[in-house]
Amino acid sequence: MLVSTIELFWRAREGRKLGLKGTENLALDWKAIIERKDRIVQSWSKGKEAGLSALGIAIVRGKAKFVAPREITVDGKKISAEKIIIATGSKPGRPDIPGAALAITSDELIHLKEQPARLVVVGGGFIGLEFGFALARADSKVTLLQSGPQIGPALDDAIRDLLLKIAREAEIDILTGVEVRSISKDKTVEAQVVGKTQSFPADQVLLATGRPSNVSPLQPQAAGVDVERKAVKVNEYLQSVSAPHIYAVGDAAGKHQHTPVAWYEGPLAAHNALKGNERKVDFSIFPSAIFTIPAIGQVGLTQKEALSRGLKIKVSNLSYDYNPAAGVRNETEGLVKVIAEEQTDRILGLHVIGAHAEDIVQLGAVAMRGGLKKSEMGSMHYVFPTLGGAIFDAMAAG
Ligand SMILES: Cc1cc2nc3c(=O)[nH]c(=O)nc-3n(C[C@H](O)[C@H](O)[C@H](O)COP(=O)(O)OP(=O)(O)OC[C@H]3O[C@@H](n4cnc5c(N)ncnc54)[C@H](O)[C@@H]3O)c2cc1C
Repeated sequence: MLVSTIELFWRAREGRKLGLKGTENLALDWKAIIERKDRIVQSWSKGKEAGLSALGIAIVRGKAKFVAPREITVDGKKISAEKIIIATGSKPGRPDIPGAALAITSDELIHLKEQPARLVVVGGGFIGLEFGFALARADSKVTLLQSGPQIGPALDDAIRDLLLKIAREAEIDILTGVEVRSISKDKTVEAQVVGKTQSFPADQVLLATGRPSNVSPLQPQAAGVDVERKAVKVNEYLQSVSAPHIYAVGDAAGKHQHTPVAWYEGPLAAHNALKGNERKVDFSIFPSAIFTIPAIGQVGLTQKEALSRGLKIKVSNLSYDYNPAAGVRNETEGLVKVIAEEQTDRILGLHVIGAHAEDIVQLGAVAMRGGLKKSEMGSMHYVFPTLGGAIFDAMAAG
C-alpha cells in the first residue's frame, strides 16, 4: 500500500513530461499515507474476524505454546486438540552487530511517524529493495548495503542488470560485498566495503536481512515437532515429519514467504489434517513479484537455472520501448524476457521488469499452467495498446 501510493506520487510527478501542469507542486503526506494504510489493514482483519465468528470458530487471544503433544496453553488457559496447525508466521531477523537495536525492521518502518530524509538499508533481498525504491521515489536519500556479491539473488541476470540501471537513475546507492560492523547512536553505519572501512550516516537504518520462521516461542519441542532452519520440518502434505498430528502452513512452514502461499496452504493442511493426507502442495507454477518501482514479476526458471539443469533453451528479450502502450504512458523503462525449451517450444520462464510487471507476468503463468507453447502464445490476438501486449510480442520474438 505504501509502495503503490508512492508509485502513484512518483508517476504523477513524471506527468510533467506528458504535458500535465502543476506536478512540481505535488507533495507526499507521509503521516496521512501511514494512517490510511493502518485503517485499511484494520478493516481487513475486522472483516476476517466476523467471518470466523459466523462459522462458529472461537478466537482466543494471547501467546500460545505447546505443553504436551496435543495440549497448548494460551496465557495459562489450556486448550487440547487431536490435530493442530501451526501458522505463526515469521519475524524480522536482527543481525548480531553492535547497535542493531538502534535500527528498525520492516515491521517498524511501516509505522514511522516521519519519513526519514536519509535511509540506509541493510540487505538487498526483496524487502530491502522494495523499501529502498519506495523511499527513494519519495525523495529520501537511500543507500543499500548488500553482504553478498549481488542484490536480488533469485532474479534473472538481465532483470537485475536493468534494475541496477534504474536504481542508479533513481539515485539509490547500492553497494555489494559489504560487511556491516556497527550502528552508532547517531545511526551512522560503519561497514567494510571491499576491505575498506566506510561510514554511512542515516536518519533511519532499516534491517532487511531476512525473516526467519517464528516457531520457537511456541515451544515445538514439547510436542515433538522437529524444526529445520527455524521452520517446522514438513512433508509434501504439510505434515510435521516428527509429529504426524501436527501440520504447518505459510511462513511457519518456511518454503515460500508469500501471502497467497499461506492462503493456499491453510485449507490444504486443514483438509489433510481432518480427512487424511489427500492433497500435496504444488508450487510447479509459482508467479511472484518484487514491488520495486517499477516492479518485477517472474514465473518459472531463470536463464541460469535452465542452463544449470542442462536444458537447451532459446531466449527472447523485448524492451518496453517496443510496446506502444508503454510509449503512450511514458513507461518505457522495462524488459520482458522469455526462456523456452529449444526443442519443445515449452515456456520455461518469464521475467518482467517494468510498469505493471506484477500483473502482466500472470498471463505467462496461466499460459504455463495450460501448457501453451511459446509460439502459440506469440500468435494469439491481444488487446492493443496494452502493457500486457508486451508478453505476447516477446513470445512472438525469435
Ligand atoms: C514488509 C513485507 C512485505 C511483504 N510483501 C508481500 C507481498 O507484497 N506479497 C506477498 O505475497 N507477501 C508479502 N509478504 C509476506 C507475507 O506477509 C507473509 O508471507 C504472510 O503474511 C505469511 O502469512 P502467515 O499466515 O504464514 O503468517 P502471518 O501473516 O505472519 O501471521 C502469523 C500470525 O500468528 C501470530 N502468532 C505468532 N506466534 C504466535 C503464538 N505463539 N501464539 C499466538 N499467535 C501467534 C502472529 O501474531 C500473527 O498474527 C511481505 C512481508 C513483509 C514483512
